[in-house]
Amino acid sequence: MDLHLTNKVVFVTGGASGIGKAIVEGAAEEGAIPVIVNRSRERGEQLRNELSQNGKKSLFVQADLSKVSQCERAIQETINQLGQLDVLVNNAGINDNVELENGSPKAFMQSIQNNLQHYYSLAHFALPHLKKSRGNIINVSSKTAVTGQGGSSGYIAAKGAQLSLTREWAVELLPYGIRVNAVLPAEVLTPMYKNWLKKFDNPDKQKSEIERRIPLEQRMTTPQEIADTVLFLASDRASHTTGQYLFPDGGYTHLDRAIHS
Ligand code: NAP
Repeated sequence: MDLHLTNKVVFVTGGASGIGKAIVEGAAEEGAIPVIVNRSRERGEQLRNELSQNGKKSLFVQADLSKVSQCERAIQETINQLGQLDVLVNNAGINDNVELENGSPKAFMQSIQNNLQHYYSLAHFALPHLKKSRGNIINVSSKTAVTGQGGSSGYIAAKGAQLSLTREWAVELLPYGIRVNAVLPAEVLTPMYKNWLKKFDNPDKQKSEIERRIPLEQRMTTPQEIADTVLFLASDRASHTTGQYLFPDGGYTHLDRAIHS
């Protein structure tokens, strides 16, 4: 299916690692121009160079999105370099384990700054450009927004708010024809996920236990499968889809897991 994304500028936060990297690569494959927004300069430049070697155009913008001024600069740099912005993919995040019992209000607010503030700030600064392009927004949230996880109050609060904002912005942006949707990954083996697994005494055993409970094919979702869902929503093939939550998770969140136990 042609997604009609040729020459569309697709701004992907956390674009040099894990799910974001797969979205960047998928966008480039569709002929779009991905903007890789990342803290790590090394990883961002490496991905931009790899794409360039394959004849794909992209832009790397180094930014620490926990700072509002860097969110504004990242959008401005995109417009200065590419002249337009068609899709905002809010994806960057960090599961920073701020617990209720052993955490603190200060750490909680810092987690909100790291995981939620930039979803709003980037949408705010991107809006004039999305109005011009009649573009759209995709918020990458998490199944933990609807299931909880334990030990991650800040991250989970941010993930839940990302879903609420998806509905809120879908309503507010109706007059401009700007669609807003959310994608909720569950179990995807990325650098973030591997870090989380390290919390367990036996990470390999924990991983197998989780895989066993994933209804469809007892395996993790690949970053590419998340990226495909994001790119479908980004495209005009999803032209009448707004305010929706998609769970590309092999049925992990909603199907009866007891069938495999
Ligand atoms: P990842 O591999 O750790 O990638 C996260 C990316 O976000 C990294 O490139 C990181 O850049 C970037 N980032 C984080 N904070 C940033 C900041 N303040 N400024 C700029 N860049 C920042 O993680 P992932 O698993 O792909 O996660 C991507 C999204 O999927 C997250 O929103 C996560 O909550 C969600 N998710 C993932 C899973 C899963 O199973 N993996 C499940 C549910 C939801 P640096 O490395 O340079 O810091």
